[in-house]
Amino acid sequence: MHHNERQADAKPAAHSVDSPAAARHHQPSTPPGTGNRQRALTSVLRPVRQLAHRTDDATLRDQLELVRIPAPPFGEEERGASVLERLREAGYDDAACDEVGNVLATLPGAAGAEPVVVAAHLDTVFPAGTDVEPRHDGGRIYAPGITDNSRGLAGMLAVARLVRTAGIRTRRPILFVATVGEEGTGDLRGVKHLFREGSPLRTAAAFVALDGSGMRRIVHRAIGSRRLRVTVEGPGGHSWADRGAPNPIVALAAATAEVSTLALPHPERSSLTVARIGGGTSINAVPDAAWLELDMRSEAPGVLLELEASVRGIVKRVVREESTGRRPGTDALSCEVAVIGDRPSAETPARSELVRISTQVTSSLGAEPELVSSSTDANVPMALGIPSIAIGVGGDSGGIHTTDEWYANDHGALGIERALLIVLEAAGVVE
Ligand SMILES: [Zn+2]
Repeated sequence: MHHNERQADAKPAAHSVDSPAAARHHQPSTPPGTGNRQRALTSVLRPVRQLAHRTDDATLRDQLELVRIPAPPFGEEERGASVLERLREAGYDDAACDEVGNVLATLPGAAGAEPVVVAAHLDTVFPAGTDVEPRHDGGRIYAPGITDNSRGLAGMLAVARLVRTAGIRTRRPILFVATVGEEGTGDLRGVKHLFREGSPLRTAAAFVALDGSGMRRIVHRAIGSRRLRVTVEGPGGHSWADRGAPNPIVALAAATAEVSTLALPHPERSSLTVARIGGGTSINAVPDAAWLELDMRSEAPGVLLELEASVRGIVKRVVREESTGRRPGTDALSCEVAVIGDRPSAETPARSELVRISTQVTSSLGAEPELVSSSTDANVPMALGIPSIAIGVGGDSGGIHTTDEWYANDHGALGIERALLIVLEAAGVVE
């Protein structure tokens, strides 16, 4: 998830439970809805909601143990194995890894019912070798990935354990998934595999991504992105003897200048960034190759393709123009544009059942719901029309995607309770 810097939620008002004693006496408020069914539901859910608070320390222990296991992009195996073991210990005998390394476990439901998918990503943005040892300072725990996404993983494990321990039965099966490849160059490869062509999950009833911290945010709009790597190659040569030869760097510099001033459709909901650039061999040589990487994002479906067409057109033209100046007999520049990232834009309507449940549960726990957009694992099922959201799992945090990342377990258990109630409402509790 591309988090806003600091995920500081307003303190939940009525239901602060920041002490085990308070947890024991935590009287869950009546969940959303009315009448007998809700009262029955309240009595079915009361014990598991209280258990969510009594197991707050165990949840934090998972979080601390998981953050110590590095999970760089394309390097999630070890952490995946640890999550698999924890799911099996929690009684999910069917827990297993799929072809790409996602870890899956199912709480059965009524036969034939479409599942609710609960996902948390395994990977972090931090390369192998990063020091991930947690450091405690005051009420904060500092460690790269402690919130994004060790908190989400610990939250998923907690919900999976709670429903099993409490013997909760649901109408719909609940599929718990620890996904690979959510961050950066991972390009959502884990969730894309889950919802690949022909996958039975394409008709899932709902998708809930647990990502990061907090109590208020409900991601129901997906910021899509399209990432391109443009490579320009030319004859190169000696900077004196071959002066005037077409220069890939000159072409890319011209392309950069033009694409950076492109008029963005829906500028408030779109962005274009020339993120990385490189090339050249030595100071006394005309470069024979140069490249740039470009990141385009938009909440509005359709905008990315439009932007990409403009970018490709500009690159093609400036490469041609740089080639026309060359001396007779020298080769022209060649250009290749590769897609290195593709995340769909989409939206789960705010009036949808899943978003309505999420806002009601959030309010019922004393936090003010905030409907937001972001790029998460939910992008993929959302773009397939499956009701999908992403939420944080309690606590407070900052420094996301930096080595100064921290987490504070402030009302952490309330975040677990929120995730639990949203998932159970979506799956339909059988009394
Ligand atoms: Zn994340």
